[in-house]
Amino acid sequence: MSDGPAARGVLLFGGSFDPIHHGHLIVSRAAAEELGLDQVVLIPAANPPHKDAALLTPAEHRLAMCRLAVDDDPQFEVSAWETARAGPNYSLHTVRHFQETLPAGSRIHWLLGMDSLLELASWHRPAELASACTLVTAVRPGCEAPDLERLREALSPKQIGVIEEHILETPLIDIRATAIRARVRGGRSIRHLVPERVRGYIAEHRLFVGKRTAD
Ligand code: ATP
Repeated sequence: MSDGPAARGVLLFGGSFDPIHHGHLIVSRAAAEELGLDQVVLIPAANPPHKDAALLTPAEHRLAMCRLAVDDDPQFEVSAWETARAGPNYSLHTVRHFQETLPAGSRIHWLLGMDSLLELASWHRPAELASACTLVTAVRPGCEAPDLERLREALSPKQIGVIEEHILETPLIDIRATAIRARVRGGRSIRHLVPERVRGYIAEHRLFVGKRTAD
């Protein structure tokens, strides 16, 4: 009997990535390291359920920027699973896809920032998501840890306990995509906030300079 492919430890990291920035990269790498995981998979969202998709930069650009950000780092992969599908895409469906495609026995984690943890109860089937993967939270400047009891309606005490155990002391990086877009619109530099190749892509495609009503 031949052995199948080796089980892997994977950190799935979904987001708008509009644009991907050094906060995303530093924090996800640190989380993977702390958990002893082999791979970070960036999954740009096509039509995130919690954001007005009409206000997002087209998915092809957000995907391209993710690829440029990490294509020289073997620890990262970029998945077009969500952008290839009309939204809304739910994290649960994405996790199920990875459960089906990763080698048997692989450990799947889903990374979110502390600001997103507050919203978890309103996500699609949060209890199933919490059973399908390990939810990992990265701290974020300006975001206090929420009272996890507020997740009681959506999750079991055991699931809440696992979430609590997986709030990681990742580096506090005060970078957010909203501020990057505002800087571009205002003609200010975004050097060192995003990888150089992402900065070049934003300039080349004149991203974020047009009118955008939500920011
Ligand atoms: P925006 O300003 O447009 O809301 P963002 O910078 O929060 O964007 P997203 O693509 O929306 O970036 O974030 C994807 C995920 O990464 C979310 O779970 C978010 O909480 C987390 N995240 C983003 N930036 C950071 C950061 N600097 N530190 C920790 N987590 C972060």
